[in-house]
Amino acid sequence: MRVLITGGAGFIGSHLTEAYLERGDEVYIVDDLSTGSEDNLRHLKENPAYQNRLFVHIDTILNEPTLLELTGICDIVFHLAAAVGVQYVLDHPLELIRTNIQGTEMVLKLCDKFKKKVLVASTSEVYGKHLHAPLVETDNIIYGPSSKFRWSYAASKLMDEFTALAYYRTTGLQVIIARLFNTVGPRQTGAYGMVIPRLVGQALKNEPLTVYGDGTQTRTFTDVADVVRSLMGLMDSEKTVGEVFNIGGIGEISILDLALKIIKMTGSSSQIDLIPYDKAFGKDFEDMQRRVPSTEKLLSYIGFEPSSGLDDILAKVIASLKG
Ligand code: UDP
Repeated sequence: MRVLITGGAGFIGSHLTEAYLERGDEVYIVDDLSTGSEDNLRHLKENPAYQNRLFVHIDTILNEPTLLELTGICDIVFHLAAAVGVQYVLDHPLELIRTNIQGTEMVLKLCDKFKKKVLVASTSEVYGKHLHAPLVETDNIIYGPSSKFRWSYAASKLMDEFTALAYYRTTGLQVIIARLFNTVGPRQTGAYGMVIPRLVGQALKNEPLTVYGDGTQTRTFTDVADVVRSLMGLMDSEKTVGEVFNIGGIGEISILDLALKIIKMTGSSSQIDLIPYDKAFGKDFEDMQRRVPSTEKLLSYIGFEPSSGLDDILAKVIASLKG
């Protein structure tokens, strides 16, 4: 099978690429390296078993001729390319909207032209400022004002979901939407804000761990290997078309407790620095206080259950950052 992965040089995209190559498929990637990196693919390019099965196009998804050609020749499409990471989103507000809205519309238009099944990666951010847990796919959505630019990311991904579902309803395009919760694993960079690689990197250097706000905000982390398994399972299933799914892990933890755990697991002498949000991100920011997925729907449709808990995930990230 030929698999097109937009954003295939990114953290999750590169793991998905590897899984399809391992399965024996051909993988075509479009990535503009905005947050992705060719380093994420180096071990795959250098693997003799994958010669002539990995094709990488460094290009934006807004470049229609490239995308037209690749959508035409591939059998299925994963649309992972997006502006991601809180810091990146705040630093590139216009690019965010162009990539996430116009880019997704382009991908969906071409998938529709060639009638290719497409999975669109969305995000747990779309739920917005809920305090309850777990978050269920049919929950309402609560955002802050448009002056708080953080919400433009959530709103743009929500628009992607509407666009995909609109194609499904009007033209019958086979679409699947996956709302990814905080995903962690080897090759994730802390450069764009992602908390675990940042804090582990700080702990390994015995530097202060930067915990934003008072650290009471919580998250639930998922191993990238589990995310890849779910993405492939959703794509392989006949029942998942036209549906929205959470993909997430187990075990809610506050960021302060996460920092303490990381210090313990790395044997670091680091202290914790509580940094006010406005100092970290400026005035356009507000955090999501709590984010815990319900994965009942994922379980009932594809029988998926997470295989890794937080300790396993952290052990892998620590090992990979130690090099
Ligand atoms: N965070 C933190 N210190 C950091 C990076 C992130 O305290 O150096 C916090 C951030 O404010 C959020 C949580 O960790 O509450 C998760 O942040 P991340 O950027 O990984 O993902 P998000 O859940 O915001 O998409």
